[in-house]
Amino acid sequence: MFKINENYLKLPGSYLFSTIGKKVAAYTAAHPEKNIIRLGIGDVTQPLAPAIIDAMHKAVDEMGVKETFHGYAPDLGYEFLRAAIAKNDYADRGCDISADEIFVSDGAKCDSGNIQEIFSLDNRIAVCDPVYPVYVDTNVMAGRTGNYNPQTEQFENVIYMPCVAENNFAPELPKETPDIIYLCFPNNPTGSTITKAQLQEWVDFANKVGAVIIYDAAYEAYISEEDVPHTIYECEGARTCAIELKSFSKNAGFTGTRLGYTVVPKDLKCKDVSLHSLWARRHGTKYNGAPYIIQRAGEAVYSDEGKVQLKAQVAYYMNNAKVIYEGLKSAGYTVSGGVNAPYIWLKTPDKMTSWEFFDYLLEKANVVGTPGSGFGPHGEGYFRLTAFGTYENTVAAVERMKAL
Ligand SMILES: *Cc1c(COP(=O)(O)O)cnc(C)c1O
Repeated sequence: MFKINENYLKLPGSYLFSTIGKKVAAYTAAHPEKNIIRLGIGDVTQPLAPAIIDAMHKAVDEMGVKETFHGYAPDLGYEFLRAAIAKNDYADRGCDISADEIFVSDGAKCDSGNIQEIFSLDNRIAVCDPVYPVYVDTNVMAGRTGNYNPQTEQFENVIYMPCVAENNFAPELPKETPDIIYLCFPNNPTGSTITKAQLQEWVDFANKVGAVIIYDAAYEAYISEEDVPHTIYECEGARTCAIELKSFSKNAGFTGTRLGYTVVPKDLKCKDVSLHSLWARRHGTKYNGAPYIIQRAGEAVYSDEGKVQLKAQVAYYMNNAKVIYEGLKSAGYTVSGGVNAPYIWLKTPDKMTSWEFFDYLLEKANVVGTPGSGFGPHGEGYFRLTAFGTYENTVAAVERMKAL
């Protein structure tokens, strides 16, 4: 008789966004006349830029012609896209990453979940707390953690690195030695970043202890400050210790179109085995990950026209971030983030818990945000607001919060 993967049962029953959905649905059912503004979910709202749409149309037409039809995509992704990524995201920043170290995929979420499969179960992971839940959840499902402890709200056998006001929401090097370190900067949910010098310390640490860093750069396009690194490969020695995850979702609106990539440098080895050769065998996003049409759309992100259009889109969201940050700050809230990321991290007023503040904001202002505690125990007492809404809704939500 078949048996299930019991590691799945270690995950707490209710997922953050389904709880939010249920609460909002219940409130809407009871108050159908209320106009609810959502500054919660991490999805973009602006349509795909014209340069991207043009590229997709053209690629669709090619698919209908015998001479230009495309079947299975090549293993690592089409050369035209990998070359554009290698040039724009790496060479132009002085980083030594070649096109054949880039693996195109259908998004960073799948890659961030699947990448753990190339590592033994006998590895200890370290994660920021709070952080994007996918890193821990997928390691739980694989069986790389112990049980969930409802008292500490943590899984056993995971090194949690607190990101709190005292350290500017940037983790300190852990005292215990991890094998796999997940870092995400600019961070979701706190919107915090670290400087290039700080990231260099992590790279040096990883090389010293023989750990690998999985660096999630999904929000790289939102960086506005000079000393914040755009990629971990700006740091010396990163080629021997770091994998980088990148997404087209937040910089170019591909959340529903699906495109991302993972960089695995050929110098990254465990004894004699290169991780590049292991990731080349991956399942999941291989072949079927990103269709020709979507990879052509991704290429347009790096065209002159595409760059101008996407810069404007990011600026639109970052103007929302500024509206939220400055509006709430002037109203006496304690806020951070929002400068290099589309997320504002808000300390809940009057010592409310994250969920108490969620209910309060939903009922009193009809604004939906995300409780910080959903991203890890050190997110308790905090709340995430996102800049992905429309300008009009963002202004209206901030006015409502100021009036509370
Ligand atoms: C949104 C997000 C991603 C990526 O998403 P895909 O849509 O799967 O490419 C990855 N990491 C973080 C931290 C995110 O917030």
